[in-house]
Amino acid sequence: MTSQGQQGRIAQEMAPDVYRLELPTPFNVGAVNVYLVKGEKLTLVDVGPLTGEAWRALTTGLDEIGVSVEEIEQVLLTHHHVDHCGLLERVRKISGAKTLAHPLAAPYIELDEEFMDFHDRFFTELYRQSGVPQEKMYIIERFHQLINTFSEASRIDVHLKHEQIVPGLPQWQVLYTPGHSQSHLSLYRATDRLMIGGDHIIKHISSNAFIEPPRDRSGVRPLTLVQYRTALQMCADMDIEQVLSGHGEPVLDHRELIFARLRKNWERTDTLRRMLGGGEKTAYELTALLFPTLYEKELPLTLSETLGHIDLLTILHQVDVREEGGILYYSV
Ligand SMILES: [Zn+2]
Ligand SMILES: [Zn+2]
Repeated sequence: MTSQGQQGRIAQEMAPDVYRLELPTPFNVGAVNVYLVKGEKLTLVDVGPLTGEAWRALTTGLDEIGVSVEEIEQVLLTHHHVDHCGLLERVRKISGAKTLAHPLAAPYIELDEEFMDFHDRFFTELYRQSGVPQEKMYIIERFHQLINTFSEASRIDVHLKHEQIVPGLPQWQVLYTPGHSQSHLSLYRATDRLMIGGDHIIKHISSNAFIEPPRDRSGVRPLTLVQYRTALQMCADMDIEQVLSGHGEPVLDHRELIFARLRKNWERTDTLRRMLGGGEKTAYELTALLFPTLYEKELPLTLSETLGHIDLLTILHQVDVREEGGILYYSV
């Protein structure tokens, strides 16, 4: 708990009303940061995954600050990933807290069955088009195992949108920062130029722009990497002293970090384009080449990255695509 206390103080030196609680997760990303904001309403930003360890760390951490779960008045979710929202229903049951989130988080938080069917049809088709072998299609089922294990059905009471003031926290403004997730929100307080950045900006790892189904359940899927790059640019233009992230240490040099991320990201786009110089390939084949040690274990993540770079090259008319037997083949 010593390091947790120290980290809590780092955030508090600049914002005495914002406390960081570091909760363990069973995922590769490591611990997740949950923030307690003492405003007009006692607010938790994110809650952590549904595990006994995370729950103990949350209750112990709140206890050290002198707050109990029962007193939490609202939970604001940065996005719908289970490492951030899994304990939501447990916190709500004990405290009666309201949930504030982006509307696109709702079907994941509610575990809406009709949406999940649509979600599976979308990914079955996407993976087929990408040339993913049939024996790898189990990754669609793995998604459901993940959310059913580390979260439980809950609900959202208040939908938040870009630039609105956070109810119960009048100094804080909502920023819609999609890309990593379609439901991703960040929070900004102009008085001390503090940002709570969720998984949008993380110091020690680059965030992934996960492919998600179309927002309106028809139409085309959002171009998540393009969104992510644009939302990063938006933040680079902002006057920010400190970003409190969903994982790891606070970011004190957000502009430098963002430009480094954008540069590295574009280098990967370039690498992909060079790979296509060797002959046409499917998105799955490109993923295996780009992430030889990671793609088998982390296929949704790495395939999202590959498709993101293909999207960028497509917008720039630097890639051609041909369809044969329902599979898309890319070339330059
Ligand atoms: Zn996330
Ligand atoms: Zn996360």
